[in-house]
Amino acid sequence: MTTVTDKRQHYDTISKTCLTANVAYLFLHIFYLILFIIARVDILTYIDAAVIVIYLLFFWLLQKKKYYIYALCCGNLFFAFISVTTIMLGFNTGFHLYLIGLCVVSFFTSYFSKVKRISNSMIWVGLSVAIYLTLYFVTKFNAPYYTIEPWLEITLFTTHAIVVFVFVAGYMAVFVKYALSLERRILSESRTDELTQIGNRYSLYDYFDSEPDKSTKVLALFDIDDFKNINDRYGHVTGDFVLQRVAKIATDELKDGFVCRYGGEEFVVVLDDTLGDVLSRLEAFRQRIEEESFDFQEAKMHITVTIGAAKHVQGIELEKWVDLADDRMYIGKNSGKNRVVF
Ligand code: GH3
Ligand code: MG
Ligand code: MG
Repeated sequence: MTTVTDKRQHYDTISKTCLTANVAYLFLHIFYLILFIIARVDILTYIDAAVIVIYLLFFWLLQKKKYYIYALCCGNLFFAFISVTTIMLGFNTGFHLYLIGLCVVSFFTSYFSKVKRISNSMIWVGLSVAIYLTLYFVTKFNAPYYTIEPWLEITLFTTHAIVVFVFVAGYMAVFVKYALSLERRILSESRTDELTQIGNRYSLYDYFDSEPDKSTKVLALFDIDDFKNINDRYGHVTGDFVLQRVAKIATDELKDGFVCRYGGEEFVVVLDDTLGDVLSRLEAFRQRIEEESFDFQEAKMHITVTIGAAKHVQGIELEKWVDLADDRMYIGKNSGKNRVVF
């Protein structure tokens, strides 16, 4: 489910990236302007001045949050600028290197846009390759319009090599950072029970796998007694409220332990024997639930829980350990409920 916060985070990433890129492009063109003035390549000086004005106008597009139009305009402007400068100054100035960077940006843009289509990026890649090769052949068989001095060629080529590598790395870094944060969120959501916001059954599997020493652990399974009656009498919404409160009490009361909703109205707790007598802590928890008044709308409810607990046995599988606790819980259920069996 996409939440408002997710969308905001997504747009924040797009907005920050576009703005940073536009500022960088602008400075880059100011740098060209200075170079072109010094080298007296007058036509390119005028063209570059016009490009600077266009980049300034792009800030208005970004302010209007027209990111996709911005990306399209930027891409085309790049194609035009690269073509003109390469034809006028020669292939060795390295303007064509931008076309490689543009391919990376096109994938980035299609991922972050609403369109999310690889085929769109492929069109940009195709165009880039076509322009790249066209520029190569055109400049191979036609002399550049300007004959430039070596210092300008070296400065331009070095600048382009550095800028393209930095840009490609920058875009990839933003992309990977975003993907990692998404991955973390999906993993955390897949381990969280939506109703109670505590861990679900899968969080128990993770806990079991990640706990190196379980020799002092006790696994307890508790189940709300006659919970069906709550649902039947007060409705499902009230039942949900009770589950949420029980989860909250369990996490408060058994803070130092691991607590999760195992399924339905059953919860699993793992406590450490060395951090206090487990039986008395489970007994205190059982009593707390018994004494608690669950007030929701008009309903004032009292519930009880039956708890079955089992010590860890060397080499035992998680399912088997849960079964041991479950067997004890059923002993408790069959002997009057509202008790701890250890
Ligand atoms: P016992 O004392 O033997 O445990 O009896 P019980 O009524 O609690 O047990 P039973 O297994 O018969 O019923 C469990 C009920 O829990 C049935 C199901 O509708 C309810 N339940 C399971 N998950 C949810 C939930 O997410 N929300 C609500 N409101 N009810 C749930
Ligand atoms: Mg029950
Ligand atoms: Mg049950």
